[in-house]
Amino acid sequence: MADRTELQAGRTRKTIHAGGEWREALSGATREILDPADAQPFAVVAEGDEKDVDLAVAAARRAFDEGDWPHTPVAERAALLRRVADLLVRDRERLGLLESRDAGKTVEEGRVDIDCVADAFRYFADLVAAEAPGRVVDAGSPGIHSVVVHEPVGVCAMITPWNYPLLQASWKIAPALAAGNTFVIKPSEITPLTTVALIDLLIEAGLPTGVAGIVTGPGHTVGARLAEHPDVDLVSFTGGLVSGTKVAQAAAVTVKKVALELGGKNPNVVFADACATEDGFDTAVDQALNAAFIHSGQVCSAGSRLIVEESVRERFVAELARRAGKIRLGRGTEDGVECGPLVSEQQRAKTEEYVASALAEGAVLRCGGRRPEPSPQRPESGYFYEPTVLDHCHREMRVVREEVFGPVLTVETFRTEDEAVALANDTEYGLAGAVWTADAGRARRVAGRLRHGTVWINDFHPYLPQAEWGGFGKSGVGRELGPAGLAEYRESKHVYQNLAPRPVRWFAG
Ligand code: NAD
Repeated sequence: MADRTELQAGRTRKTIHAGGEWREALSGATREILDPADAQPFAVVAEGDEKDVDLAVAAARRAFDEGDWPHTPVAERAALLRRVADLLVRDRERLGLLESRDAGKTVEEGRVDIDCVADAFRYFADLVAAEAPGRVVDAGSPGIHSVVVHEPVGVCAMITPWNYPLLQASWKIAPALAAGNTFVIKPSEITPLTTVALIDLLIEAGLPTGVAGIVTGPGHTVGARLAEHPDVDLVSFTGGLVSGTKVAQAAAVTVKKVALELGGKNPNVVFADACATEDGFDTAVDQALNAAFIHSGQVCSAGSRLIVEESVRERFVAELARRAGKIRLGRGTEDGVECGPLVSEQQRAKTEEYVASALAEGAVLRCGGRRPEPSPQRPESGYFYEPTVLDHCHREMRVVREEVFGPVLTVETFRTEDEAVALANDTEYGLAGAVWTADAGRARRVAGRLRHGTVWINDFHPYLPQAEWGGFGKSGVGRELGPAGLAEYRESKHVYQNLAPRPVRWFAG
């Protein structure tokens, strides 16, 4: 079993867990985990491959087919999930710090993530504990007893991204365990540490041997093998559109269940009436800032498209750019820092490329658009990039159509409600969007017309574990959280019992 003290220090090579045993990669390969704030390695993990996946899936398969977990009473499964939530609260500081160093976010963001992870475990514990064991169906005859029950899907593969490593993992692990499945998870190869630590907590909480598995390693080997594996019954993926499409294609060969949480290009629609008072203006600007730049814009639901009514555009954008220019960038573990670096050099290079292409296509830079000056809080080797506001954007620009996943906000304008809705829906994605207005009727009308999985009215970013999360269009397939987030991890079974069987005499002989 991995030593938690070792993990806390961020150094361990035994990050693959299969059949109750912590192991190194079969090949012996390792990977250094870099701190995005200075590009220095601070942990070493096992770099698994397809063979490690086969081992972990075999263990999860055995635990499902022969073990007790799928048949453990719901109350006991719920109690275990609640114990995990308590352990997360106990370890909040340690895990919050680890998430901060791994993903480059501020420690406070890391702590909030851990609170949300604990909430997910509690929510799914409460949900299953309160359920009826089955739904009796009226078969229309007293001689028939008919009931629909829910059973676990089996062995679940989970593939997660680097922006909210433990939170995204918890949205899969908590419902999967609540429903009685076994699983193998593959965290992002660049941010695996908190997911490894969570497996330890599951074991400490008393999860039976073999139910939880993890293989650290890259997507094209570990992830791809999980998606195609014949002994995996379901694959749940959160990440980008390109990898998600590959996962769906690989999974199709064995017709396994597939759940995809993909990217977003999320509109933040601001009507002039929302800015009619000073308070309203201040709130809408403040939240537009938060929508676009929290976690340096590396959020699937980031409000990266500001769609603002023409009449307030100049004042709104000027204030937004002024405030964006004051965001304090630095290492997430430093006091007073409001925003950390991007997660990797690759992610920063991608951001720089989008900004360059936007400027070449006619966008006007209102702030940012460059790497910040180095400082003691911001080493030159860190992957920092200034919050950037690009004005005069339009839908033909790549930066408006494609997900940047960096601190880049584009500005488009509209004159009518119809135009605002058309712009907000003009995306291949459909994850989330917001409308800001003081007119209650307009708020409901526009919310009703937006083709996005979450719509905020006069707010941005909050989610509730009780409410489904997921996307329209190319933002994904299926939902996480809420009752539908549990249903993903279940099969329905109709049990039809004839209480007084008799011949049917369909055939004469
Ligand atoms: P990514 O697609 O590059 O990687 C996600 C995961 O998939 C990683 O673990 C990666 O190793 C793995 N992977 C890569 N190629 C694979 C393959 N061929 N087969 C199987 N697995 C493979 O995404 P990322 O850069 O880690 O994360 C950012 C993306 O995640 C953004 O597009 C963001 O919008 C999305 N995201 C979506 C949500 C949501 O709830 N909809 C939440 C968080 C992040």
